[in-house]
Amino acid sequence: MIAFRGVSKVYTSGGREVAALRNVSLRVEAGEVHGVLGQSGAGKSTLIRCANLLERPSQGTVHVDGQDLLALSPEALRKARQSIGMIFQHFNLFPSKTVAANVAYPLEVAGVPRAQVRERVEELLSLVGLSDKALAYPAQLSGGQKQRVGIARALAPRPRVLLSDEATSALDPETARSVLELLRDINRRLGVTLLLITHQMDVVKAICDSASVLERGRLVEQGKVTELLARP
Ligand code: ADP
Ligand code: ADP
Repeated sequence: MIAFRGVSKVYTSGGREVAALRNVSLRVEAGEVHGVLGQSGAGKSTLIRCANLLERPSQGTVHVDGQDLLALSPEALRKARQSIGMIFQHFNLFPSKTVAANVAYPLEVAGVPRAQVRERVEELLSLVGLSDKALAYPAQLSGGQKQRVGIARALAPRPRVLLSDEATSALDPETARSVLELLRDINRRLGVTLLLITHQMDVVKAICDSASVLERGRLVEQGKVTELLARP
């Protein structure tokens, strides 16, 4: 479903080169929950942003759902991105839009007819348990509720893949757990493949099928969670 092959990424900042990813190859099968672990600065965020080309690799290829993202025309890439949802540590909601309008946004951009948008928004808010918050604004919500809105918005275009960039790091442990359970539930019920980054091993234990570990841009471990836990 997701395949990175020989992916390297070099950033140039202030005349200096920073190798954020070094020859990373990684496969995530359809329907899996895969966790990417690593310390701050290891390259996790860069890796996940290469899965929808928010960052372009300096070298290597990225395939998602059978498509070679780097070979797509801008128009085809725009379409491919609709099947790749993303959620963020700080939610990235539009503060001046209601919950319903935040969730409706990607559908409106895609030109979905109004009546269908409304029906889909109701369905999504029900899925994440926020039907009674449709007309609230993000500032009126708790962190956990904001992330549920982020999840509903990411799922609106019916993506096959969901990328999570530290989506639970800003939440207290109990709220984080309930958001993780929601993600696991979405994975099971909708079959959405989930690639998530975290620096917490307990997150991996709680919901991941497979995981990998990045260290200074290199992938140093990769496998089923049960195998990784059994290693010394
Ligand atoms: P992580 O998500 O594991 O914390 P990142 O992917 O954010 O790691 O960063 C990996 C490395 O790349 C770090 O050294 C970071 O400082 C650097 N880096 C990330 N983004 C940029 C950027 N836009 N410009 C320059 N360097 C960057
Ligand atoms: P904006 O103009 O800020 O984008 P709108 O008031 O037009 O916000 O609403 C955006 C979307 O939210 C519309 O597509 C509408 O169908 C949907 N919407 C509004 N209220 C509800 C609701 N109570 N339940 C579900 N969807 C709603």
